[in-house]
Amino acid sequence: MKQKTIPNMAPKQRRHKETGVGDRFNKNDGMSHTRTAVVIAAHPDDETLWAGGTILMNPGIRWSVATLCRRSDPDRAVKFTKAVARLKASGAIGDLDDGPKQSPLSPREIETAILSLLSSGARYDLVLTHSLFGEYTRHRRHEETGHAVLSLWSRGKLDTARVWMFAYEDGNKRYPPRAEETADRRIDLPDDVFSEKYRIITEIYGFAPDSWEARTAPRTEAFFCFRKPRQITEWYERGGTR
Ligand SMILES: [Zn+2]
Repeated sequence: MKQKTIPNMAPKQRRHKETGVGDRFNKNDGMSHTRTAVVIAAHPDDETLWAGGTILMNPGIRWSVATLCRRSDPDRAVKFTKAVARLKASGAIGDLDDGPKQSPLSPREIETAILSLLSSGARYDLVLTHSLFGEYTRHRRHEETGHAVLSLWSRGKLDTARVWMFAYEDGNKRYPPRAEETADRRIDLPDDVFSEKYRIITEIYGFAPDSWEARTAPRTEAFFCFRKPRQITEWYERGGTR
């Protein structure tokens, strides 16, 4: 299922706080230079949970969302279509295995799925995707997705100026995922933006207020920011530290 791109509204000025640390972060390297961006995520709802506020706060960017699983799940697929419309993005959904066993998938299968969801020859200013370490303990598809994006970018199959990986951790299951202290970019969502994100999770995806998803939905979104594939590789080899 592919949707037509939905025209974006004119950029709105919103007051919000953004902080960045680390030598990979450059204050002049923010969203103001971004025209086209794609979120590559494992499941319908990941785009909203981990980056929905960032999408909503940047309506001048042409956003698309490629999600890799659940096309043949009529419930989730329909909700995904509604969610990306609320995010004023275009969406495409794949059908990789998402069974409870989370059997490992071959990198080639995941990479092929990603490419099939992107417009051929597309060039992006920014790709948002899962961390190689995932966002919590633990979902294999998230980590596999991050690795597949890195592989495609390294081999020139994915054309993007930058990759930002979701930066969240759950203290090894001790608490719901929250923004990493060491993230390169942390964005505190204004109340109206968070409210809209929360409505997408609860009203469109239908997660109850006491669900894991509703309790998790971060008020602060965070990303590890990279300009070159090798920066990701080096960061990963250091165990996610500088
Ligand atoms: Zn997910």
